[in-house]
Amino acid sequence: AFLQFTREIEPSHLSTENTIGEGEFGEVYRGVLKYPGKERIPVAIKTLKSTYSESQWWNFLREATIMGQFHHPNIIHLEGVVTRKKPMMILTEFMENGALDSFLRENDGKFSPFQLTGMLSGIASGMKYLSDRNYVHRDLAARNILVNRDLECKVSDFGLSRILQDDEEGTYETRGGKIPIRWTAPEAIAYRTFTSASDVWSYGILMWEVLSYGDKPYGEMSNQEVRGSEPPGSVPPPPPNLTLSPILLEEGEAVTGYSRFLKSQSHVQMILTLPPSHSALSRL
Ligand code: ATP
Repeated sequence: AFLQFTREIEPSHLSTENTIGEGEFGEVYRGVLKYPGKERIPVAIKTLKSTYSESQWWNFLREATIMGQFHHPNIIHLEGVVTRKKPMMILTEFMENGALDSFLRENDGKFSPFQLTGMLSGIASGMKYLSDRNYVHRDLAARNILVNRDLECKVSDFGLSRILQDDEEGTYETRGGKIPIRWTAPEAIAYRTFTSASDVWSYGILMWEVLSYGDKPYGEMSNQEVRGSEPPGSVPPPPPNLTLSPILLEEGEAVTGYSRFLKSQSHVQMILTLPPSHSALSRL
């Protein structure tokens, strides 16, 4: 039952190419999946290092099981797993431009407002899909978004995500565990209560990251200073050249956004055109 949403891949159909990154569990490779008579599928291959502990093994496969349940153009797609042979592997669609934070830093200033808001709007669609399924990601940040060659952005890294039980009234509490302070909503830091609304907070920080081309939110402030900022949970100052402006989503609901062109309102309109049912935005 544990692996019910995953497909076991026969390793002979898989060829591994160069290393593309280092994950929490082991190396990440680029590779190609080739079934007889079918097209080649470029994949990213996450491996579980041979020295894994039981909890690493569990978390590794847990992430695959979570991913395997999602089918959305803005959520990273799971191709399959290798569990019957060592090393164990998780295969996902290959995202040519890698993680969004480093991709933006390498391409500072190169995108139009339309392209930047397109990335954000895609991520919002993916987050709406998750929140509609009662999934709280808890670690939404540019480093956990992957970008393909068409600039499409997909939510990945479900290591911290949790499904909410109906009786939990949309909250998830953690005991202990690491929290990404700069991206986490004040109430989630204070009471360890994670909800789709706290994911929306992280989405706001992610907007800041995208519009600043991958700067560090709150700059050189320490985590302690971020937590203690006044008023509690204040937002980071606008990135250079951007103006802070509240954006009205539905009657009575506003989200704080950053508009590069406050006068022309190009960002604002792009964000406003999201359907009002976008709970990832409107539940704020
Ligand atoms: P951490 O929790 O430290 O981020 P992780 O185990 O979650 O590690 P990832 O961040 O998913 O591992 O992967 C590490 C790196 O490998 C990423 O930053 C990215 O550069 C690359 N990578 C991961 N998945 C893909 C993919 N599907 N396509 C292209 N590159 C990928």
